[in-house]
Amino acid sequence: MRLVVLGGGESGVGTAILGKQKGYEVFVSDYGKIKDSYKEVLIQNGVEWEDEKHTESLILNADVVMKSPGIPDKAPIVKKLVEKGIPVISEIEFAAPFTNAITIGITGSNGKTTTTMLTYHLLKSAGLNVGLAGNIGKSFAEQVAEDKYDSYVLELSSFQLDGIVNYKPHIAIITNISPDHLDRYDYKYENYIESKFRITMNQTEEDYLIYDADDEAISEWLKKNKTKAKLIPFSLTQTFEEGAFIKDNTMESIINQEEFKMETESIALEGKHNLKNAMAATSVAKLMQIRKATIRESLSNFQGVEHRLEKVLKIQNVQYINDSKATNVNAAFFALDSMTTPTVWIVGGVDKGNDYNELMALVREKVKAIICLGVDNRKIIDAFGNVVDIMVEVNTMNDAVKMAQRITEKGDTVLLSPACASFDLFENYEDRGRQFKDAVHNL
Ligand code: ADP
Repeated sequence: MRLVVLGGGESGVGTAILGKQKGYEVFVSDYGKIKDSYKEVLIQNGVEWEDEKHTESLILNADVVMKSPGIPDKAPIVKKLVEKGIPVISEIEFAAPFTNAITIGITGSNGKTTTTMLTYHLLKSAGLNVGLAGNIGKSFAEQVAEDKYDSYVLELSSFQLDGIVNYKPHIAIITNISPDHLDRYDYKYENYIESKFRITMNQTEEDYLIYDADDEAISEWLKKNKTKAKLIPFSLTQTFEEGAFIKDNTMESIINQEEFKMETESIALEGKHNLKNAMAATSVAKLMQIRKATIRESLSNFQGVEHRLEKVLKIQNVQYINDSKATNVNAAFFALDSMTTPTVWIVGGVDKGNDYNELMALVREKVKAIICLGVDNRKIIDAFGNVVDIMVEVNTMNDAVKMAQRITEKGDTVLLSPACASFDLFENYEDRGRQFKDAVHNL
């Protein structure tokens, strides 16, 4: 069997290692440059590879192709493979049959990483032999090759899900759905929604789908379509006989008639969106029969993930918060929603077709000044120019932070929550977040 791997990054190299171990003839091809560290791993494992080209004669003879999530279906080589009827699958699809471990698959437009890390924290603290993979850290395929874990918590993007055929998580979570990455879905929101729901398409009556019952796109889909999985909803506004919800400032989760309660105040993560993430993770923990005391302790000591509403420093009683990962309007919505003091909001970058109207009420209520940090800030200025008293444009993170300091008074908050992608002025959102933190530390 010939396995061709398109893309020599984390998931590609992991798949190559696993394929080789399982006796496939493996070839890795990357149209860009493969990092030296990955080249070394390929060489060590005796895997043939090429980069900065796709040699068709070495690719179109594959029995199966693993396509890395970053490569769009529109890429010419992928089109040719599909025309020839060669199966093109994702890393998860390739690797899953080689492990008996239970997988917990987490998808959604926002909150994937936070919910994945929190779920992992809950299960690991309970002493389970659990791994963490998907879009995070070391590839799932490589960890399957090492065969170390009984269960995995997997962060799954829609691109990973587009490439599944038979894969099913035992427990699936859809955190929420709002428009994102539409360029990869023919600019059709329906296609993107369908892609997210692929997470449940192979689930059976023994499996579970945990989902945000407050989410319009999710509720609509569930009304019109069927899944065999047992449904476990969570909500900030409704209550359920089975599911998770908030009542009188207490989070409640009921599964198999067993109840778990915890005061929301004791949950370390802040903000309504994080209550949702906590409800989702708690539902998994309950399904995995983790003890209540362990769940309680883990929820109260989980410190969050870098670049997600991360508290950086308090200077002269002004709190600086790094939410650089907020690359769309929905994420910025929840960041603004969780602000409790007058806020100087640093926003902007590469617009993804944003509708800023959704933020209008929150901006009126909470934002005293807007600092636009992007190459083209017109849409933001048009939307909020008449809504806030102070509106400034800057080109560097240093200027943004210095300007913020000048505007703030004691008790205010400075929030970086850009609602946009970062690549006009930064390498990626991590670079943007790090520059913010450095600038704050240098104040
Ligand atoms: P993802 O991995 O899906 O991008 P992250 O956990 O990295 O999600 O969070 C991305 C952004 O979305 C952050 O700005 C974070 O504060 C915000 N966020 C986290 N959870 C949610 C949620 N449940 N709903 C909306 N926004 C969220």
